[in-house]
Amino acid sequence: LSDRLEGVFAGLRSKGRLTDADIDATAREIRIALLEADVALPVVKAFISGMKERSKGAAVSQALNPAQQVIKIVNDELVDILGGETRRLRFAKTAPTVIMLAGLQGAGKTTLAGKLSKWLKGQGHSPMLVASDLQRPNAVTQLQVVGQQAGVEVYAPEPGNGVGDPVAVARESIDVARRKMHDVVIVDTAGRLGVDADMMQQAIDIREAVQPDEVLFVIDAMIGQDAITTAEAFRDGVGFTGVVLSKLDGDARGGAALSVRHVTGQPIMFASTGEKLDDFDVFHPERMASRILGMGDMLTLIEQAQQTFDEEEAERMAEKVASGNKFTLDDFLEQMMAVRRMGPLTNLLGMLPGAGQIKDQIAGIDEKDLDRTQAIIRGMTPAERQDPKMINGSRRSRIARGSGVTVTEVNNLVTRFFEARKMMAQMTGNMGFGKPGRGAS
Ligand code: GDP
Ligand code: MG
Repeated sequence: LSDRLEGVFAGLRSKGRLTDADIDATAREIRIALLEADVALPVVKAFISGMKERSKGAAVSQALNPAQQVIKIVNDELVDILGGETRRLRFAKTAPTVIMLAGLQGAGKTTLAGKLSKWLKGQGHSPMLVASDLQRPNAVTQLQVVGQQAGVEVYAPEPGNGVGDPVAVARESIDVARRKMHDVVIVDTAGRLGVDADMMQQAIDIREAVQPDEVLFVIDAMIGQDAITTAEAFRDGVGFTGVVLSKLDGDARGGAALSVRHVTGQPIMFASTGEKLDDFDVFHPERMASRILGMGDMLTLIEQAQQTFDEEEAERMAEKVASGNKFTLDDFLEQMMAVRRMGPLTNLLGMLPGAGQIKDQIAGIDEKDLDRTQAIIRGMTPAERQDPKMINGSRRSRIARGSGVTVTEVNNLVTRFFEARKMMAQMTGNMGFGKPGRGAS
């Protein structure tokens, strides 16, 4: 998703006004980007219309250029669709607070039980885990292991009692927690590979038995379009009050995150980002939006580009280029420095107007090469830089010695410079600025 969006924003010029055509073009690209990221169609539609609405209403900010304005609009819409503000856990007035976990098998419930309990413990709570997944023999052991890692007590049926009753275990656990002064109870439940009626009924029975303050629906962020049907089945089955996105570390595209809130109407409260107990945090819609946009990087890039290529300078350069031979090695150096100030060249490609045409050439440039080029130009006298034609053989060997390169390298640079000058003159000619003298003939 991020890659595609970056392309969209790079396409918007960094100067001028934001037009309706810009918005429409951006909306089209974003629509494709969202669909490619497995975002559900109704969510995509809501997103696009929200975005258009926002761009109509937005007072056109003078401080932001079109690319920045669009980024802001998209960002705001992303935050909105991700739920706006973070919703905190609701605690019961009288302890213990009961949190029940629901979701498919492998969604990450048991792992989450460990993570959440460790996190709560860090906040001064005294949580207890409850093993109400008695479906698989090692489910209880798995919970005991994460409980041990988190340093919290685990309530589980005695081994050797045969297959226990998950609903009874859940019910008993509340009394046990009260007696042992635990203020939060986290009930781990069983899942199936797909949604089925038995599993849903068991979850409903557990819910009735423990009357949870929160039912957290845990969903694997990597399941793509299935996220929607699964979320809907749980919403209509056991019901839930909040969502936990797990395996967000694997969901580079952010599709599930975008769909789930809109489809279920329930907030995403936590995010799980790895197998370790600490790979876990409260879900922040703004941060997720920034992540999807890759905005941190992008905004700085745009700003840097603007600072460096201020309009006057660009015009001055364009004139020089158009007038053929006035483009000097000093200008060449200055341009090179301007580009280098913006960071690694490859990041910038998409941002330069007309970059498409010279993309291959730029991609071929190596940063070390630039260092040497710079050194060579610095080794020239001002007169040589202004009038590169005067750089004859003896001057070349002097420059080579002074800048610690070979004569061949100096030769190459001079040749390349003349080629570049020729190419630029052609390009500006093609772009309609006209070569001097052409109009007169
Ligand atoms: P459950 O069946 O819902 O209880 O799911 P588990 O908690 O047993 O998790 C299933 C698998 O996913 C385990 O191998 C976990 O280690 C792994 N897992 C859980 N959460 C995450 C996560 O956030 N990131 C990654 N990479 N793996 C996770
Ligand atoms: Mg489990």
